Amino acid sequence: MDDFSDLMAANRAFADDFQLGGFDGVAHAGVAIVTCMDSRIDPLRMLGLQHGDAKIFRNPGGRVTSAALEALVLGVHLLGVERILVVPHTRCAMAANTEAELRVKVGESAGVDASWQQFHVIADQVAALEEDVRKVRSHPLIPDTVKVGGFIYHVDTGLLEQKL
Ligand SMILES: [Zn+2]
Repeated sequence: MDDFSDLMAANRAFADDFQLGGFDGVAHAGVAIVTCMDSRIDPLRMLGLQHGDAKIFRNPGGRVTSAALEALVLGVHLLGVERILVVPHTRCAMAANTEAELRVKVGESAGVDASWQQFHVIADQVAALEEDVRKVRSHPLIPDTVKVGGFIYHVDTGLLEQKL
C-alpha cells in the first residue's frame, strides 16, 4: 500500500479544495484529442482548454486504433464531440525506433525475450497520420459534420502544425 503514499497524499490535498463535484462528462469545448502517451504533451494546455473541455485518448504514438475509434464514436454520439484532433509528435519513440529495436530494448530491460511483443512502430509519421485521419473521416458512425484534423505537435517549441 505504501508504494503510492506520496500520490495519495497529493490526492488528499487535491480533494481538499475540489470544486468540480457534480460536473458532467460531456466535452464542453466539443473537442476530442487522440495523442501519444508521451509525458511532454499536455493535451488540454496546448490547446488553451480546461478541465472538462475535451475527451482525450492516448496511446504510444497517438494512433487511431480500434480502441481509439470506439472512444471517438462514443464521444461524437454521447459526449458532445464535434471536432477531433489526431496529434502525433516530434521525437516520438514510436517513430524513432524499428519494431526490432524496441523489442531488443524491452527485452534487455525485462531480462526475458520480447520478440513476440507488438509495438506498432511508425515508419512514416505523416503517412500514418494521413491513414489515421482517413480512418476517422470514413468511419460510418462518425458523420461528416464532425471536423477531423491531423496535426504534428512539436515537443521543443510547443507548436502544433496542421498537416490535414
Ligand atoms: Zn510519442
